[in-house]
Amino acid sequence: MRNLSSGSKGNSTLVWTDDNAILLDAGISALQVRRRVADSGIEIEDVDAILISHEHIDHIRGIDVLSRRYGKKVYATSRTWENMKIVPDERGILRREMRFGDIVIRTFPVPHDAVDPVGFEIYHEDSKVVAVTDIGHAPPYLLETMKDASLVLIESNHDVDMLQNGPYPYYLKQRILSEEGHLSNEDCGKALASSLNRDAVAVMLAHLSEENNTPELARRTAEENVDVPVIVTGLEPTDIIEL
Ligand SMILES: [Zn+2]
Ligand SMILES: [Zn+2]
Repeated sequence: MRNLSSGSKGNSTLVWTDDNAILLDAGISALQVRRRVADSGIEIEDVDAILISHEHIDHIRGIDVLSRRYGKKVYATSRTWENMKIVPDERGILRREMRFGDIVIRTFPVPHDAVDPVGFEIYHEDSKVVAVTDIGHAPPYLLETMKDASLVLIESNHDVDMLQNGPYPYYLKQRILSEEGHLSNEDCGKALASSLNRDAVAVMLAHLSEENNTPELARRTAEENVDVPVIVTGLEPTDIIEL
């Protein structure tokens, strides 16, 4: 698994096995997706599907071209499709459970100000990955499902003090801080502390705000809460994490 890009400029994560590959969100340009997938050692032709968490532009920017030029099928829930501003040629309905070769995906609802946002559980052999960004708070199901995950990718969006003292207008601060906005470093740390398995391979911190956070602050807060390797995602791809 590898996060290809993360944050308000665009999100995409590549998950692959020897035989199958999927993208979770494609919020960077199709060209960038293709380059970063190739740089990970697989070709865009070998990607089986693109799964969309919700309709915000930083999660869907590349899907039109990826669908038209490379024939990639894009999956989103029916309510998300109804509210999607980009409508790719190849569309599928994202269901609660789906199989792409030897990768099984389950989705679960998350609290965010989109119409039908979901988080992902990804299963392959004995490994389980939980990937969730854009959440206003950590709901009980997320805390439960993280307990036996080998790897968790979770939002660590902002430092509450930086946000409150920063330049954002009041309404935007309230939106981000709300129960359906974005997860703070502090709340991310608490969620990890209460749920993450000690044997987890790593935790990836995602969707960091460029205005209201720093990679160092996010990392420090997570490391104060869990004793597993912490990987901070950003504009550039992370290392490849093998499970
Ligand atoms: Zn969003
Ligand atoms: Zn987002």
